Parts: sequence; C-alpha cells; structure tokens
Amino acid sequence: MFSERILMGPGPSNPYPEVTAALVRPVLGHLDPEFLGLLDETCDRLRSVFLTENPLTLPLSGTGSAGMEASLVNVVSPGDVVVVGVNGLFGERLCEVASRLGAEVVRVEAPWGQPLDPEALLSAHPDPKVVAVVHAETSTGVRNDVSTLAAGKGDALLVVDTVTSLGGIPVEVDGWGIDISYSGTQKCLGVPPGLSPVTVSPGARERLLERPTSWYLDLGLISRYVGAAAGRTYHHTAPISMIYALHAGLGVLLEEGLAASWARHESCGQLLQDGLEKLGMVLVAPASHRLPELTTVWVPDELPSGLGEADVRRLLLNAYGIEIGSGVGSMAGKVWRIGCMGHTARRRNVELLLEALGTILDR
Ligand code: PLP
Repeated sequence: MFSERILMGPGPSNPYPEVTAALVRPVLGHLDPEFLGLLDETCDRLRSVFLTENPLTLPLSGTGSAGMEASLVNVVSPGDVVVVGVNGLFGERLCEVASRLGAEVVRVEAPWGQPLDPEALLSAHPDPKVVAVVHAETSTGVRNDVSTLAAGKGDALLVVDTVTSLGGIPVEVDGWGIDISYSGTQKCLGVPPGLSPVTVSPGARERLLERPTSWYLDLGLISRYVGAAAGRTYHHTAPISMIYALHAGLGVLLEEGLAASWARHESCGQLLQDGLEKLGMVLVAPASHRLPELTTVWVPDELPSGLGEADVRRLLLNAYGIEIGSGVGSMAGKVWRIGCMGHTARRRNVELLLEALGTILDR
C-alpha cells in the first residue's frame, strides 16, 4: 500500500507498520460506541503530545491548512488586528488567511532563513487581538522562539503553527502559555496527511466567535461532536480510517516517549547536518535556530558537469529510492530541504542519504 521509498522531503512520512495496519481496519460507523471510545482516546493522546490539559483538543478533519484556517476563523472578525511573524512560506499563508477574514494584518518580517525577533512581534502593535507565528518554518528549516512570545503577549491570543514541530521538538502548550495551536499528522507524528490536531486553551475558548464565517470549521459546533464526553450531536462524518491511523501513530509515539522522540530527532538531525558540512555544503539556518527535523542546505555552486539541482534530486529518487525536497518561494532552485521526521528519523536513513549524496556530488 505504501511506497518503500525513504521520504526525506518535508511531506508525509512513511507510516509506521502500526499505522498501516490501522488504515486497513474494517471501518466502523462514525457514531458506533467503539469508534467514539477510540476518538476520545485519540483526543487524550493529543493532549499528552501537546503537553496540555485543554479539554478542547481534537483532530480536525482536513490537513494542517484546515487547522490554520480554523485557528483564525474562530477568533478573527473584520477589522481585528492580527500580528503575524513572516520568515517563510507558512508565515505568508497565515497573513493570507487573516487578510481574507478582513483582519488588519501587521507583518513582522525576518529574512527567509533567519529567525523572527520575538521583541519585534511583541512591540509591533499596542493591542492586537491575535499574534500568530509558525514554530517550525518548513520552507526554511528555521525554529522561531515561542516561549518569549507567550510570556509577553498580554491579552492577545497567541496562535502557534506546530505542523512541523509537534512530536519532533519540544512543544509545551500549557507550560509556555499558547492559546491556540494547530498541527498536521504527516510530519513528526509519522501518520499520513489528512487531519489537523488542534488545541484551544480554556481562556481562548471563551473568546471563540459565536458564529464564525466558516460553518465547517466552527470549533464550537465541532466540539459538540468530537471531544464531547456526553450528549454528542452530529456535526460531520468523521474520517474513521484517518482517526484510526492517528490513534495508532500517537500510540507509537507515546510508547517511545515524547522526550525519546525529541532526542531521536535531535541526534538524527545533528548527524545529517554534520555530515552535510563534512561534504563541504553550507547550511541555511543559523545553528541556534536550526530544526533537526528539517534541514535546509544551499545547493552547491558547482555541481558535477551536466547535472542541475533537480537532476540530483531525481538521481537520489530513482537510483537510491530517497526523496528530498526542493526549495520553495524565494528559495526555489537554491536550496534542498531534507526532512528527517517521524518514522524516517533513523540513523540508517541519514547514513544512506549522506553516502548517496556524496557519490552523486562526487565528494
Ligand atoms: N504549516 C506548516 C509549517 C507546514 O509545513 C505546512 C505544510 O507543509 C502547513 C502549515 C500546511 O499543512 P498542509 O499542507 O497539511 O495543509
């Protein structure tokens, strides 16, 4: 069912065998008590991974972008000020979503490849309704600091994109004081794409709009079905197989232990980054804000004759079964993005990639 390729791009990880088995389980009805028990357990597991007690924590139907939209559409009304950190593609996407909601968007930028300055975000406006930031910028491999923002945000709601950080590096929703966070299943959780785990603090829950412009993403309505302990009312048909898969993937992660998973990502990322430097390549992100799960490296100026950057990626894929990502946005054609996340964050995969890249680049 799933490819044997090693996916080291920032897309869906190869599912764990437990996840694959979950996906082919017979499908129960979405109101079957057995399924509802598994759904509740999935929400509990999400709380453990987000490190939160938030009752409103659930797998939203839709990919990470659905979580992004839901996080904003439920709190932003036309004219509200939304401060957004922009140092990559997903910060840009946050601006686009907020501006479609009629928000007054205040952009706080850093160059692609550099981290945001939390103080600049905090002083960008005296009284924003929302401050939104991407924790792990998948387009550049940069980690943005979140805890400083949480400590200084005042009454603003802090919305944090943890699509590429959850499960791979520390994310402490309650410890840091994040109001709303959304993630994705296909990155460090090692589950196919299709759901967006979302968590909302009790304080933020009180500030959710009564009637957001999206019916489908209305967290107030959804939470009467998903995550409701009693008196559930139907909202939409839950994607059963995806929830089985997420339940299984979270089970694998929690059995390993969050700290052990962070350590595995850290050591694989370090091995990869050291190895790339030994091959004479230059990393994009500064060491202090480098993500272990997503490494961005400049494409060398000199490639073996006749090869372009896309040829190198094609050779890796066709000759070695390893996929790495291309650059996006202003970094298209200039960088490679090498994912090392979820199931693929294994020393063996990193060693294979370094060996293959060294051979192709003749280094
Ligand atoms: N935010 C970040 C940081 C991402 O990396 C991605 C996807 O790669 C998204 C949001 C959007 O998620 P999706 O593509 O699952 O909709």
